[in-house]
Amino acid sequence: MFNPDQESMRPSQRRELQLERLRWSVRHAYEDNPYYRQKFQAAGLHPDQVRTLDDLRRIPFLTKQEMREQAPYGLFAVPLKDVVRLHASSGTTGDATVAGYTRGDIELWSTLMARTIASAGGGAEDVLQVAYGYGLFTGGLGAHYGGEKIGATVIPISGGNTERQLALIRDFGTTMLACTPSYAVNMVDYAARNLPWFDFRKTRLKRGIFGAEPWTEGMRQEIESRMGIDAFDIYGLSEVIGPGVACECSAKRGLHVFEDVFLVETIDPDTGEVLPEGSQGELVYTSLTKECCPVIRYRSRDISRLYRDTCPCGRTLVKMDKIYGRSDDMLIIRGVNVFPSQVESVILQVEGVEPHYEIVVDRQGALDDVEVRVEVSEAIFSDELKVMSALSDHIAARMRATLGISAKITLVEPDSIERSAGKARRVVDRRKP
Ligand SMILES: [Zn+2]
Repeated sequence: MFNPDQESMRPSQRRELQLERLRWSVRHAYEDNPYYRQKFQAAGLHPDQVRTLDDLRRIPFLTKQEMREQAPYGLFAVPLKDVVRLHASSGTTGDATVAGYTRGDIELWSTLMARTIASAGGGAEDVLQVAYGYGLFTGGLGAHYGGEKIGATVIPISGGNTERQLALIRDFGTTMLACTPSYAVNMVDYAARNLPWFDFRKTRLKRGIFGAEPWTEGMRQEIESRMGIDAFDIYGLSEVIGPGVACECSAKRGLHVFEDVFLVETIDPDTGEVLPEGSQGELVYTSLTKECCPVIRYRSRDISRLYRDTCPCGRTLVKMDKIYGRSDDMLIIRGVNVFPSQVESVILQVEGVEPHYEIVVDRQGALDDVEVRVEVSEAIFSDELKVMSALSDHIAARMRATLGISAKITLVEPDSIERSAGKARRVVDRRKP
């Protein structure tokens, strides 16, 4: 553990720390940011009224829409001269949100990413290849600073240029890889197709921290078996800080949330009602120590479940399940709610199917039509039509049985679905205007 005192703290002691920090954070937002102040006043709330952790519920939520409207500087709670870094969300679903960091915030973020690297078994001996994009996106620089903080040897290659990535893994003796899970799979595919002599097992690569998109157990097995490494899920949001909000440990079962610095709640996404731990719902984050951009009850739109267990790793931090999906990505198909990650977990259980797929949703008359385009191995694709149609029937049947949706399954040849060096695009929704 990078911060054993904080990560394995007695829960009752942590709650005291959280309360003390929550009171500071709410007061900071109220006193140093006019938008928060006006918002709290409109809700009839003064920071003095936050006396217990439960009082958090009296505070109104902060939405992504508000963050967009207040961009770039409307949610800053320090003068610009104290801000040393800006990042912005990719804005895939509209205008970007902007995050600022003081020197203290960068220090916090680096520490959280150092914790993340340590949680995946990494440390000062590691050669860390950062293949997340650098720039306004938080992935690259987040992993970079965490790597330096823990004393690893950092290779700042950024995303893309797959051939060079592979050459560096081989020549620089990379032991740890940081990128999106879909890009990790793309690297393996690229090597298999273009560099048949390249053998991941003959490199020093041992582990990877993969995040920035929801991914499944099936995808983990795919990456682990083909790269010969341990693959860990890491989680974060640029609106909260970037990567470094939660990560898996050696148990690979659930992600520990760094709740000494981010309070997390689960709510019903429709009613906003706070749900007890153990229920599936939307995660809501409150920063406890951030200086430039305090986030108070930020609705992440990520759907998961929080729970506590006695983890063999010794951390006492609350756990969240791997993200099921974002509420914006949830598809409603003929009234059934489906996340792309659920489709992924069904198809990856089928032999001969490659981890590349695309979900195309369209509307025929009044009804939604789903087509799942799935890549299959060369061997299957060149097989008889009979074999192909038996396979697609099999996938369709599993989809019906597990998810309750009737999808048309189209098997496509290897490499026919667009690859990405960052976040994969899984859904094409033609129903939207
Ligand atoms: Zn653990």
